[in-house]
Amino acid sequence: MKTIGLIGGMSWESSLEYYRLINEGVKERLGGLHSAQCLMYSVDFAPVEVMQKSGQWEAGAAVMVDAAQRLERGGADFVLLCTNTMHKSAPQIEAAIRVPFLHIADAAGRRVQAAGLRRVGLLGTRFTMEEDFYTGRLARFGLETLIPPAEQRREVNRVIYDELCLGVTRAESRQAYREVIAGLAQAGAEGIILGCTEIGLLVKPEDSPLPLFDTTRIHAEAAVEMALEGSPD
Ligand code: GLU
Repeated sequence: MKTIGLIGGMSWESSLEYYRLINEGVKERLGGLHSAQCLMYSVDFAPVEVMQKSGQWEAGAAVMVDAAQRLERGGADFVLLCTNTMHKSAPQIEAAIRVPFLHIADAAGRRVQAAGLRRVGLLGTRFTMEEDFYTGRLARFGLETLIPPAEQRREVNRVIYDELCLGVTRAESRQAYREVIAGLAQAGAEGIILGCTEIGLLVKPEDSPLPLFDTTRIHAEAAVEMALEGSPD
């Protein structure tokens, strides 16, 4: 089994999910007392969030690169970044380590493509929804991405930082997300990518008329595959 390196802490609420899903996945595949061979380097999210908000992306990338290099030095055979948003720094991370970097949007894109869908709705932070570092990566899998209108994007983003990353799930917010998903379905989406690693804590398949692609789960499953088979699919 390969050693999985996880950059966590963004937020730790979703890092917990990664740890659980990866261990469950290994146990399911190998049985008995088997568990994942992994390392997690978990950052302090508060300064990272300030860097995001104030547009200090180079400083944010330096934190990600430092974390990835620590994992490589610690013996990780490949590295995962347990958040969608900081994949804005993926090129810097990939250039700074020798071991493979398992990109979250590649894992998601492959899964949506395998399901035979072409047009997907994307929910995530404003950075993930509005910039092209993520939608551009999905386009490599032949996917067209739909995002909610501006006012709904603001609410989706607010709920992530003000509630989900603090471990808070509110029924009103779940209802707001249901409405956003319904709007994307009406606009022609065939599935919804939960492109933020905390959204799966709030929104479940029963909240959506469309199939949900939860990036936390998909990324964790790709990591298990890579640890056991040497390739993410
Ligand atoms: N975990 C979230 C994501 O997947 C948001 C927190 C962050 O900005 O890193 O994008």
